[in-house]
Amino acid sequence: MKKHIKITSLVSLVSIILAMLVMSCKKDETPPPMPLPAGSENTETEFQGNVIIVGAGAAGLAAAKKLEEEGVSYQILEATDKLGGRIQKDETFADFPIDLGAEWIHEDKSILNYLINQPGNEPYVETILYQPMNVKEVVGNNISQISNQDMVDYYADYITEYKFKSTTWYDFINENFAQQVEQNIIYNSKVTIIDYTGNQVVLTTENGIEYQVDKVILTVSLGVLRSNAITFIPSLPAKKIAAIEDVEYLSGFKLFMKFSNQFYPDVITCETSSGEKTFYDVAYGKESQDHVLGLLSTGISAEEYYLLANSDSIVNAVIQELDGYFNGLASQNYLGSYIYEDWGQQTYTQGTWTSDFQAASQDLIAPLDDKVYFAGESYSTHGIIPIQGFYIIRGSVQSAILSAYEAVDSLLE
Ligand SMILES: Cc1cc2nc3c(=O)[nH]c(=O)nc-3n(C[C@H](O)[C@H](O)[C@H](O)COP(=O)(O)OP(=O)(O)OC[C@H]3O[C@@H](n4cnc5c(N)ncnc54)[C@H](O)[C@@H]3O)c2cc1C
Repeated sequence: MKKHIKITSLVSLVSIILAMLVMSCKKDETPPPMPLPAGSENTETEFQGNVIIVGAGAAGLAAAKKLEEEGVSYQILEATDKLGGRIQKDETFADFPIDLGAEWIHEDKSILNYLINQPGNEPYVETILYQPMNVKEVVGNNISQISNQDMVDYYADYITEYKFKSTTWYDFINENFAQQVEQNIIYNSKVTIIDYTGNQVVLTTENGIEYQVDKVILTVSLGVLRSNAITFIPSLPAKKIAAIEDVEYLSGFKLFMKFSNQFYPDVITCETSSGEKTFYDVAYGKESQDHVLGLLSTGISAEEYYLLANSDSIVNAVIQELDGYFNGLASQNYLGSYIYEDWGQQTYTQGTWTSDFQAASQDLIAPLDDKVYFAGESYSTHGIIPIQGFYIIRGSVQSAILSAYEAVDSLLE
């Protein structure tokens, strides 16, 4: 959920960024067909070397698929035992699959075809237009209803958003990227050293294995880079370090709680001084008999919840809070089960997404000596510049994928 593109935060309608986006993002109902993503033409490459991709999230998998199509030799080193990075799903909690990380399609649904170089606007997978009308706002201790007219006005002016109907972002990434490249993923391979001193780059993993390659595409999150989990030899240029520090990349988590009844509206957006705090009906538009309320908390609200002892204490505090807004209905209806997905404190993520939505600076994107290239959601060069009426905004799945295509293009140049 993005502060500037989510219904939950639209309702505050006050931020300058939001106002600018509202003005600049207005677009026709039916978008024209999209051009092919940069570099999606299947060109012959003269590059004969080998490549290591660090990270098997959306960016790493998209880079791999593109290299596969180009006939370039590559491997993916992934620190964990699973692919997807910040795109994960749970299929057991409710009668529909739940996106534990990325959940919304922050564009028209036809962006899905664009990402996989397919013609037409209608994706092969069913989606839901996400325009909830029953929205409440919490300011201080007061909860109030946003009027229907305000919501109608909002949707008339704002960029469109969708969700997957009975599938997830994970399924989309898995079907369209991972399945073609999974054979080249080496799991449980945390890269700890990247030495780009010589003609070739030497990567060392935590388990002591060395890989010597011509080029590297590094897709770890800004949080991981800031944590100094990877030692660069020589160290990163000062401009690069400054650019990494400059980006807003907030901590945060998602919490999913199951209730016996839906006592809550589609969305409750809470005023906060940084990041966002939003409760939302996770089953909105899905075919479900379950009542799952989600909480997306980033920035200051997450930091406050982190002060509590553990996830049980966080859930208790959240239920109490909801009881305050809904006269005790939260504890009366709570079924006692929850999922707590803490992206802020996960070693290999160390945060949620890039939340300053400008295009990435050249200092951030610049490769190291034409040997180590950077890709991932923070590196999108598109900012909010329209592509045929679409907006590729940093911090999204599409910015991760498109930045990977760009990194491969510049690596092969
Ligand atoms: C709670 C939450 C909600 C979100 N909601 C949305 C949404 O609704 N819509 C949307 O479009 N986007 C959303 N996003 C953002 C979206 O998930 C990301 O932009 C995208 O998934 C990032 O992909 P990536 O490949 O750049 O990075 P990642 O997914 O972080 O992939 C990096 C990979 O590198 C691995 N790695 C890390 N360190 C090492 C190492 N040292 N060695 C080897 N491997 C390593 C990691 O394990 C990971 O697999 C959300 C994110 C979060 C956390």
